[in-house]
Amino acid sequence: MLDMMWMRENAEVVRQTARWKKVVDFPLDELLEWDDRRRGLRQETEELRARRNALTKEIEALLRQEKLAEGEAAKEQVREIGPRLTDVEARLAAAETTCRELMLRAPNPVSKDTPIGESDKDNVEIRRCGEPAAFGFVPRDHVELGEWHDIIDIPRGVKAGGPRSYTLKGDGLYLHLAVQRLALDVLTARGFTVMDVPAIVRPETLVRTGFFPGGEEQTYELSGENRWLAGTSEVPLVSLYSDEIIDLKEPMRLAGMSACFRREVGSAGRDVRGLYRVHQFSKIEQVVLCENDPEVSENMLQEILANAEHILQLLELPYRVVAVCTGDMSLKTHKQYDIETWMPGRNAYGETHSASNLLDFQARRSNIRYRGADGRLRYCHTLNNTAAATPRILIPLLENHQQEDGSIYIPQALRKYMDGREVIPAPT
Ligand code: AMP
Repeated sequence: MLDMMWMRENAEVVRQTARWKKVVDFPLDELLEWDDRRRGLRQETEELRARRNALTKEIEALLRQEKLAEGEAAKEQVREIGPRLTDVEARLAAAETTCRELMLRAPNPVSKDTPIGESDKDNVEIRRCGEPAAFGFVPRDHVELGEWHDIIDIPRGVKAGGPRSYTLKGDGLYLHLAVQRLALDVLTARGFTVMDVPAIVRPETLVRTGFFPGGEEQTYELSGENRWLAGTSEVPLVSLYSDEIIDLKEPMRLAGMSACFRREVGSAGRDVRGLYRVHQFSKIEQVVLCENDPEVSENMLQEILANAEHILQLLELPYRVVAVCTGDMSLKTHKQYDIETWMPGRNAYGETHSASNLLDFQARRSNIRYRGADGRLRYCHTLNNTAAATPRILIPLLENHQQEDGSIYIPQALRKYMDGREVIPAPT
Protein backbone atom coordinates (compact mmCIF):
# COMPACT_ATOMS: atom_id res chain seq x y z
CA MET A 1 0.00 0.00 0.00
CA LEU A 2 1.19 3.50 -0.74
CA ASP A 3 0.81 6.66 1.27
CA MET A 4 -2.32 8.53 0.08
CA MET A 5 -0.66 11.93 0.19
CA TRP A 6 2.30 10.59 -1.80
CA MET A 7 -0.07 9.18 -4.44
CA ARG A 8 -1.80 12.55 -4.73
CA GLU A 9 1.50 14.34 -5.24
CA ASN A 10 2.91 11.69 -7.59
CA ALA A 11 -0.18 10.72 -9.57
CA GLU A 12 1.73 10.49 -12.85
CA VAL A 13 4.32 8.08 -11.33
CA VAL A 14 1.47 5.89 -10.07
CA ARG A 15 -0.23 5.92 -13.50
CA GLN A 16 3.04 5.10 -15.29
CA THR A 17 3.77 2.24 -12.84
CA ALA A 18 0.30 0.79 -13.44
CA ARG A 19 0.92 0.87 -17.21
CA TRP A 20 4.38 -0.69 -16.87
CA LYS A 21 3.14 -3.43 -14.54
CA LYS A 22 0.00 -3.96 -16.63
CA VAL A 23 -2.28 -3.31 -13.66
CA VAL A 24 -5.53 -2.71 -15.50
CA ASP A 25 -7.89 -2.56 -12.54
CA PHE A 26 -6.45 0.36 -10.63
CA PRO A 27 -8.65 3.47 -11.00
CA LEU A 28 -6.49 6.23 -9.51
CA ASP A 29 -8.97 9.02 -10.37
CA GLU A 30 -11.76 7.16 -8.62
CA LEU A 31 -9.52 6.72 -5.55
CA LEU A 32 -8.63 10.43 -5.49
CA GLU A 33 -12.35 11.31 -5.68
CA TRP A 34 -13.19 8.92 -2.85
CA ASP A 35 -10.33 10.35 -0.81
CA ASP A 36 -11.74 13.89 -1.30
CA ARG A 37 -15.16 12.63 -0.24
CA ARG A 38 -13.64 10.87 2.78
CA ARG A 39 -11.83 14.01 3.87
CA GLY A 40 -15.03 16.04 3.57
CA LEU A 41 -16.94 13.46 5.62
CA ARG A 42 -14.18 13.32 8.26
CA GLN A 43 -14.41 17.08 8.66
CA GLU A 44 -18.21 17.01 8.79
CA THR A 45 -18.12 14.25 11.45
CA GLU A 46 -15.65 16.17 13.57
CA GLU A 47 -17.68 19.39 13.31
CA LEU A 48 -20.92 17.65 14.30
CA ARG A 49 -19.22 15.90 17.24
CA ALA A 50 -17.67 19.18 18.42
CA ARG A 51 -21.03 20.96 18.11
CA ARG A 52 -22.76 18.21 20.11
CA ASN A 53 -20.11 18.36 22.86
CA ALA A 54 -20.33 22.15 23.05
CA LEU A 55 -24.13 21.97 23.28
CA THR A 56 -23.96 19.32 26.02
CA LYS A 57 -21.74 21.62 28.09
CA GLU A 58 -24.05 24.56 27.33
CA ILE A 59 -27.10 22.58 28.50
CA GLU A 60 -25.40 21.75 31.81
CA ALA A 61 -24.59 25.44 32.34
CA LEU A 62 -28.11 26.56 31.39
CA LEU A 63 -29.70 24.01 33.72
CA ARG A 64 -27.42 25.11 36.56
CA GLN A 65 -28.60 28.66 35.94
CA GLU A 66 -32.18 27.32 35.81
CA LYS A 67 -32.68 28.71 32.30
CA LEU A 68 -35.03 25.87 31.50
CA ALA A 69 -36.51 27.10 28.21
CA GLU A 70 -33.10 27.83 26.70
CA GLY A 71 -31.87 24.49 28.02
CA GLU A 72 -34.77 22.72 26.25
CA ALA A 73 -33.95 24.53 22.96
CA ALA A 74 -30.32 23.40 23.20
CA LYS A 75 -31.47 19.82 23.94
CA GLU A 76 -33.63 19.95 20.81
CA GLN A 77 -30.55 20.90 18.78
CA VAL A 78 -28.61 17.92 20.24
CA ARG A 79 -31.51 15.64 19.28
CA GLU A 80 -31.38 16.97 15.72
CA ILE A 81 -27.62 16.36 15.50
CA GLY A 82 -27.99 12.67 16.50
CA PRO A 83 -29.43 11.24 13.25
CA ARG A 84 -27.29 13.56 11.09
CA LEU A 85 -24.16 12.32 12.85
CA THR A 86 -25.24 8.67 12.48
CA ASP A 87 -25.76 9.23 8.77
CA VAL A 88 -22.42 11.02 8.23
CA GLU A 89 -20.55 8.39 10.28
CA ALA A 90 -22.07 5.60 8.17
CA ARG A 91 -21.11 7.39 4.94
CA LEU A 92 -17.60 7.97 6.32
CA ALA A 93 -17.20 4.27 7.21
CA ALA A 94 -18.27 3.31 3.67
CA ALA A 95 -15.84 5.85 2.16
CA GLU A 96 -12.99 4.52 4.36
CA THR A 97 -13.74 0.95 3.20
CA THR A 98 -13.83 1.97 -0.47
CA CYS A 99 -10.59 3.97 -0.15
CA ARG A 100 -8.81 1.03 1.49
CA GLU A 101 -10.08 -1.41 -1.15
CA LEU A 102 -8.85 0.86 -3.95
CA MET A 103 -5.54 1.59 -2.19
CA LEU A 104 -4.84 -2.14 -1.91
CA ARG A 105 -4.78 -2.28 -5.71
CA ALA A 106 -2.19 0.47 -6.19
CA PRO A 107 1.13 -0.82 -7.59
CA ASN A 108 4.44 -0.15 -5.85
CA PRO A 109 6.65 2.14 -7.99
CA VAL A 110 9.80 0.54 -9.38
CA SER A 111 13.41 1.53 -8.72
CA LYS A 112 15.21 3.83 -11.18
CA ASP A 113 17.46 0.98 -12.34
CA THR A 114 14.59 -1.44 -13.08
CA PRO A 115 14.56 -2.34 -16.79
CA ILE A 116 11.38 -1.33 -18.61
CA GLY A 117 9.91 -4.28 -20.49
CA GLU A 118 6.88 -6.39 -21.33
CA SER A 119 7.79 -9.88 -20.09
CA ASP A 120 10.60 -12.11 -18.77
CA LYS A 121 12.15 -11.91 -22.26
CA ASP A 122 13.08 -8.31 -21.44
CA ASN A 123 14.85 -9.16 -18.17
CA VAL A 124 18.48 -8.06 -18.29
CA GLU A 125 21.36 -10.40 -17.49
CA ILE A 126 23.67 -8.92 -14.85
CA ARG A 127 26.28 -11.66 -14.46
CA ARG A 128 27.03 -15.33 -15.00
CA CYS A 129 28.84 -17.62 -12.62
CA GLY A 130 30.19 -21.03 -13.62
CA GLU A 131 30.19 -22.69 -17.02
CA PRO A 132 27.51 -25.17 -18.14
CA ALA A 133 29.16 -28.62 -18.22
CA ALA A 134 30.17 -30.04 -21.61
CA PHE A 135 29.19 -33.70 -21.35
CA GLY A 136 31.27 -36.27 -23.25
CA PHE A 137 28.21 -38.54 -23.31
CA VAL A 138 24.48 -38.21 -23.92
CA PRO A 139 23.16 -36.71 -20.67
CA ARG A 140 19.82 -37.72 -19.18
CA ASP A 141 17.29 -35.21 -17.90
CA HIS A 142 16.17 -35.30 -14.25
CA VAL A 143 13.08 -37.39 -14.99
CA GLU A 144 15.14 -40.09 -16.72
CA LEU A 145 17.81 -39.91 -14.00
CA GLY A 146 15.19 -40.05 -11.25
CA GLU A 147 13.47 -43.11 -12.72
CA TRP A 148 16.74 -44.89 -13.50
CA HIS A 149 18.10 -44.34 -9.97
CA ASP A 150 14.64 -45.01 -8.52
CA ILE A 151 14.73 -41.75 -6.54
CA ILE A 152 11.86 -39.87 -8.26
CA ASP A 153 8.50 -41.45 -9.07
CA ILE A 154 6.32 -39.03 -11.00
CA PRO A 155 3.59 -41.46 -12.24
CA ARG A 156 2.78 -42.74 -8.75
CA GLY A 157 2.88 -39.17 -7.38
CA VAL A 158 0.33 -38.19 -10.03
CA LYS A 159 -1.75 -41.29 -9.24
CA ALA A 160 -2.05 -40.14 -5.62
CA GLY A 161 -1.99 -36.35 -6.00
CA GLY A 162 -3.14 -35.54 -9.53
CA PRO A 163 -1.26 -33.56 -12.19
CA ARG A 164 1.91 -31.68 -11.17
CA SER A 165 2.56 -34.06 -8.26
CA TYR A 166 5.65 -36.16 -7.60
CA THR A 167 7.23 -38.59 -5.17
CA LEU A 168 10.81 -38.45 -3.91
CA LYS A 169 12.28 -41.74 -2.73
CA GLY A 170 15.43 -42.78 -0.89
CA ASP A 171 18.34 -40.58 -1.99
CA GLY A 172 15.87 -38.31 -3.82
CA LEU A 173 14.30 -37.46 -0.46
CA TYR A 174 17.70 -37.21 1.26
CA LEU A 175 18.96 -34.76 -1.39
CA HIS A 176 15.75 -32.73 -0.99
CA LEU A 177 16.39 -32.56 2.77
CA ALA A 178 20.13 -31.96 2.32
CA VAL A 179 19.72 -28.80 0.22
CA GLN A 180 17.25 -27.41 2.76
CA ARG A 181 19.56 -28.25 5.64
CA LEU A 182 22.50 -26.63 3.83
CA ALA A 183 20.44 -23.46 3.22
CA LEU A 184 19.40 -23.31 6.90
CA ASP A 185 23.00 -23.76 8.08
CA VAL A 186 24.34 -21.09 5.69
CA LEU A 187 21.67 -18.62 6.82
CA THR A 188 22.16 -19.39 10.51
CA ALA A 189 25.89 -18.72 10.11
CA ARG A 190 24.98 -15.42 8.43
CA GLY A 191 22.84 -14.16 11.32
CA PHE A 192 19.37 -15.36 10.28
CA THR A 193 16.84 -16.74 12.76
CA VAL A 194 15.48 -19.95 11.27
CA MET A 195 11.81 -20.74 11.77
CA ASP A 196 9.16 -23.30 10.94
CA VAL A 197 6.07 -21.23 10.10
CA PRO A 198 2.40 -21.97 9.29
CA ALA A 199 1.48 -22.70 5.68
CA ILE A 200 -2.23 -22.37 6.54
CA VAL A 201 -3.04 -18.68 6.83
CA ARG A 202 -5.95 -16.30 7.29
CA PRO A 203 -7.12 -14.28 4.26
CA GLU A 204 -6.13 -10.99 6.00
CA THR A 205 -2.57 -12.32 6.18
CA LEU A 206 -2.52 -12.58 2.39
CA VAL A 207 -4.08 -9.12 2.00
CA ARG A 208 -1.61 -7.54 4.36
CA THR A 209 1.41 -9.06 2.60
CA GLY A 210 0.19 -7.91 -0.82
CA PHE A 211 -0.90 -11.26 -2.32
CA PHE A 212 -4.63 -10.44 -2.15
CA PRO A 213 -6.53 -8.91 -3.82
CA GLY A 214 -5.41 -10.29 -7.14
CA GLY A 215 -3.77 -13.57 -6.16
CA GLU A 216 -6.91 -15.45 -5.10
CA GLU A 217 -7.11 -17.70 -8.14
CA GLN A 218 -3.47 -18.80 -7.66
CA THR A 219 -4.11 -19.77 -4.04
CA TYR A 220 -5.78 -22.87 -2.60
CA GLU A 221 -8.65 -22.12 -0.22
CA LEU A 222 -9.50 -24.63 2.51
CA SER A 223 -13.13 -25.43 1.98
CA GLY A 224 -15.38 -24.16 4.78
CA GLU A 225 -12.44 -22.82 6.81
CA ASN A 226 -11.94 -19.21 5.61
CA ARG A 227 -8.24 -20.06 5.53
CA TRP A 228 -5.83 -20.50 2.66
CA LEU A 229 -2.61 -22.36 1.83
CA ALA A 230 0.29 -19.93 1.47
CA GLY A 231 2.42 -20.11 -1.68
CA THR A 232 5.51 -18.96 0.23
CA SER A 233 6.63 -18.54 3.84
CA GLU A 234 7.18 -14.83 3.10
CA VAL A 235 3.45 -14.54 3.94
CA PRO A 236 3.56 -15.92 7.50
CA LEU A 237 7.07 -14.60 8.20
CA VAL A 238 6.18 -10.96 7.54
CA SER A 239 2.83 -11.38 9.27
CA LEU A 240 4.39 -12.63 12.49
CA TYR A 241 5.17 -8.95 13.15
CA SER A 242 1.94 -7.29 11.92
CA ASP A 243 0.56 -4.58 14.23
CA GLU A 244 3.85 -4.52 16.14
CA ILE A 245 6.47 -1.89 16.86
CA ILE A 246 9.70 -3.80 16.31
CA ASP A 247 13.27 -3.17 17.34
CA LEU A 248 15.35 -2.45 14.23
CA LYS A 249 18.70 -1.41 15.65
CA GLU A 250 19.89 -4.22 13.39
CA PRO A 251 17.95 -5.48 10.35
CA MET A 252 15.75 -8.43 11.31
CA ARG A 253 16.96 -11.45 9.31
CA LEU A 254 14.47 -14.33 9.21
CA ALA A 255 14.51 -17.66 7.39
CA GLY A 256 11.25 -19.60 7.06
CA MET A 257 10.90 -23.25 6.26
CA SER A 258 7.54 -24.31 4.89
CA ALA A 259 5.58 -26.29 2.36
CA CYS A 260 4.39 -23.98 -0.46
CA PHE A 261 1.19 -24.49 -2.41
CA ARG A 262 0.41 -22.98 -5.81
CA ARG A 263 -2.52 -23.51 -8.14
CA GLU A 264 -0.44 -22.47 -11.17
CA VAL A 265 -3.55 -21.23 -12.97
CA GLY A 266 -2.56 -19.99 -16.42
CA SER A 267 0.36 -22.43 -16.67
CA ALA A 268 -1.62 -25.14 -18.49
CA GLY A 269 0.69 -26.98 -20.86
CA ARG A 270 3.81 -25.15 -19.56
CA ASP A 271 6.65 -27.02 -17.84
CA VAL A 272 4.58 -30.18 -17.56
CA ARG A 273 7.58 -32.53 -17.49
CA GLY A 274 9.08 -33.50 -14.17
CA LEU A 275 9.69 -31.38 -11.11
CA TYR A 276 9.89 -27.86 -12.53
CA ARG A 277 6.35 -26.61 -11.92
CA VAL A 278 4.47 -28.52 -9.26
CA HIS A 279 1.57 -27.66 -6.94
CA GLN A 280 3.37 -28.42 -3.68
CA PHE A 281 7.02 -27.86 -2.90
CA SER A 282 9.31 -26.96 -0.01
CA LYS A 283 11.17 -23.72 0.38
CA ILE A 284 13.62 -22.06 2.69
CA GLU A 285 12.88 -18.35 2.31
CA GLN A 286 14.86 -15.34 3.48
CA VAL A 287 12.86 -12.37 4.78
CA VAL A 288 14.41 -9.15 6.03
CA LEU A 289 12.77 -6.26 7.89
CA CYS A 290 14.96 -3.17 8.00
CA GLU A 291 14.92 0.60 8.42
CA ASN A 292 12.91 2.79 6.08
CA ASP A 293 15.99 3.93 4.21
CA PRO A 294 16.40 3.06 0.51
CA GLU A 295 20.17 2.75 0.91
CA VAL A 296 19.81 0.27 3.79
CA SER A 297 17.22 -1.86 1.98
CA GLU A 298 19.26 -1.81 -1.26
CA ASN A 299 22.23 -3.17 0.73
CA MET A 300 19.97 -5.83 2.23
CA LEU A 301 18.76 -6.79 -1.27
CA GLN A 302 22.37 -7.30 -2.34
CA GLU A 303 22.99 -9.30 0.86
CA ILE A 304 20.10 -11.73 0.36
CA LEU A 305 21.04 -12.09 -3.30
CA ALA A 306 24.65 -12.90 -2.28
CA ASN A 307 23.36 -15.50 0.23
CA ALA A 308 21.47 -17.31 -2.54
CA GLU A 309 24.47 -17.13 -4.88
CA HIS A 310 26.68 -18.55 -2.12
CA ILE A 311 24.34 -21.52 -1.73
CA LEU A 312 24.42 -22.16 -5.50
CA GLN A 313 28.22 -21.94 -5.46
CA LEU A 314 28.28 -24.50 -2.62
CA LEU A 315 26.06 -26.69 -4.78
CA GLU A 316 28.64 -26.19 -7.58
CA LEU A 317 25.96 -25.13 -10.05
CA PRO A 318 26.30 -22.65 -12.96
CA TYR A 319 23.83 -19.77 -12.77
CA ARG A 320 23.10 -16.25 -13.93
CA VAL A 321 21.54 -13.25 -12.23
CA VAL A 322 18.95 -11.19 -14.12
CA ALA A 323 17.39 -7.82 -13.32
CA VAL A 324 13.65 -8.35 -13.61
CA CYS A 325 11.81 -5.88 -15.85
CA THR A 326 8.61 -3.94 -15.07
CA GLY A 327 6.29 -6.23 -17.06
CA ASP A 328 7.51 -9.34 -15.20
CA MET A 329 7.09 -7.80 -11.71
CA SER A 330 4.27 -8.15 -9.26
CA LEU A 331 2.19 -5.29 -7.86
CA LYS A 332 4.18 -5.21 -4.61
CA THR A 333 7.73 -5.26 -5.96
CA HIS A 334 10.01 -2.20 -6.11
CA LYS A 335 13.14 -3.95 -7.38
CA GLN A 336 13.77 -7.59 -8.24
CA TYR A 337 16.55 -9.93 -9.27
CA ASP A 338 15.98 -13.52 -10.34
CA ILE A 339 18.65 -16.20 -10.30
CA GLU A 340 18.42 -18.75 -13.06
CA THR A 341 20.37 -21.98 -12.76
CA TRP A 342 21.61 -23.97 -15.74
CA MET A 343 19.36 -26.96 -16.46
CA PRO A 344 20.95 -29.23 -19.11
CA GLY A 345 17.67 -31.08 -19.77
CA ARG A 346 16.02 -27.80 -20.80
CA ASN A 347 19.24 -26.62 -22.47
CA ALA A 348 18.52 -23.31 -20.75
CA TYR A 349 18.76 -21.41 -17.50
CA GLY A 350 15.64 -21.89 -15.34
CA GLU A 351 14.50 -19.64 -12.48
CA THR A 352 15.42 -21.02 -9.07
CA HIS A 353 15.50 -17.88 -6.86
CA SER A 354 13.72 -14.55 -6.76
CA ALA A 355 14.91 -11.59 -4.64
CA SER A 356 12.74 -8.52 -4.06
CA ASN A 357 12.82 -5.22 -2.23
CA LEU A 358 9.29 -4.05 -1.41
CA LEU A 359 10.22 -0.83 0.43
CA ASP A 360 7.42 -0.07 2.95
CA PHE A 361 4.61 -1.46 0.74
CA GLN A 362 4.01 -4.58 2.89
CA ALA A 363 4.77 -2.88 6.20
CA ARG A 364 2.05 -0.25 5.60
CA ARG A 365 -0.54 -2.94 4.88
CA SER A 366 0.70 -5.06 7.79
CA ASN A 367 1.21 -2.09 10.12
CA ILE A 368 4.79 -2.99 11.10
CA ARG A 369 6.64 -0.01 12.52
CA TYR A 370 9.83 0.82 14.41
CA ARG A 371 11.03 3.86 16.28
CA GLY A 372 13.74 5.76 14.39
CA ALA A 373 16.73 7.48 16.03
CA ASP A 374 14.67 10.70 16.13
CA GLY A 375 11.95 8.92 18.16
CA ARG A 376 9.41 8.95 15.29
CA LEU A 377 7.49 5.82 14.33
CA ARG A 378 8.03 4.68 10.74
CA TYR A 379 6.96 1.75 8.59
CA CYS A 380 9.93 -0.56 7.99
CA HIS A 381 11.11 -1.91 4.63
CA THR A 382 10.66 -5.62 3.83
CA LEU A 383 12.60 -7.86 1.45
CA ASN A 384 12.60 -11.51 0.52
CA ASN A 385 14.58 -14.06 -1.46
CA THR A 386 14.58 -17.79 -1.95
CA ALA A 387 17.43 -19.64 -0.25
CA ALA A 388 16.49 -23.08 -1.59
CA ALA A 389 13.29 -24.18 -3.32
CA THR A 390 13.08 -27.90 -3.78
CA PRO A 391 12.41 -30.14 -5.69
CA ARG A 392 13.05 -27.54 -8.46
CA ILE A 393 16.70 -27.20 -7.41
CA LEU A 394 17.07 -31.00 -7.72
CA ILE A 395 16.73 -30.53 -11.50
CA PRO A 396 20.08 -28.72 -11.96
CA LEU A 397 21.61 -30.70 -9.11
CA LEU A 398 20.93 -34.09 -10.71
CA GLU A 399 21.38 -33.00 -14.32
CA ASN A 400 24.64 -31.04 -13.92
CA HIS A 401 26.25 -33.57 -11.59
CA GLN A 402 25.53 -36.78 -13.53
CA GLN A 403 28.70 -38.67 -14.46
CA GLU A 404 29.51 -40.78 -17.49
CA ASP A 405 29.53 -43.94 -15.35
CA GLY A 406 25.91 -43.30 -14.30
CA SER A 407 26.71 -42.07 -10.81
CA ILE A 408 25.63 -38.65 -9.51
CA TYR A 409 28.32 -36.49 -7.94
CA ILE A 410 27.40 -35.05 -4.53
CA PRO A 411 28.92 -31.57 -4.01
CA GLN A 412 31.33 -31.31 -1.09
CA ALA A 413 28.99 -29.01 0.90
CA LEU A 414 26.12 -31.54 0.79
CA ARG A 415 28.13 -34.58 1.85
CA LYS A 416 27.79 -34.09 5.57
CA TYR A 417 24.00 -34.36 5.11
CA MET A 418 24.43 -37.45 2.90
CA ASP A 419 26.37 -39.74 5.24
CA GLY A 420 29.68 -38.39 3.89
CA ARG A 421 29.06 -39.99 0.50
CA GLU A 422 30.75 -38.51 -2.60
CA VAL A 423 28.33 -39.97 -5.16
CA ILE A 424 24.98 -41.61 -5.55
CA PRO A 425 26.21 -44.77 -7.27
CA ALA A 426 25.09 -45.84 -10.72
CA PRO A 427 22.15 -48.27 -10.66
CA THR A 428 23.23 -51.86 -10.92
P1 AMP B 1 8.52 -17.05 -6.05
O1 AMP B 1 8.12 -17.09 -4.61
O2 AMP B 1 7.36 -17.14 -7.01
O3 AMP B 1 9.45 -15.94 -6.37
O4 AMP B 1 9.31 -18.40 -6.30
C1 AMP B 1 10.50 -18.67 -5.63
C2 AMP B 1 11.06 -19.96 -6.13
O5 AMP B 1 10.20 -21.03 -5.77
C3 AMP B 1 11.21 -20.06 -7.62
O6 AMP B 1 12.37 -19.41 -8.08
C4 AMP B 1 11.27 -21.56 -7.79
O7 AMP B 1 12.56 -22.06 -7.46
C5 AMP B 1 10.29 -22.05 -6.76
N1 AMP B 1 8.95 -22.26 -7.34
C6 AMP B 1 8.01 -21.34 -7.58
N2 AMP B 1 6.89 -21.90 -8.09
C7 AMP B 1 7.16 -23.22 -8.19
C8 AMP B 1 6.41 -24.34 -8.65
N3 AMP B 1 5.15 -24.22 -9.08
N4 AMP B 1 6.98 -25.56 -8.60
C9 AMP B 1 8.24 -25.71 -8.12
N5 AMP B 1 8.99 -24.69 -7.66
C10 AMP B 1 8.46 -23.46 -7.70
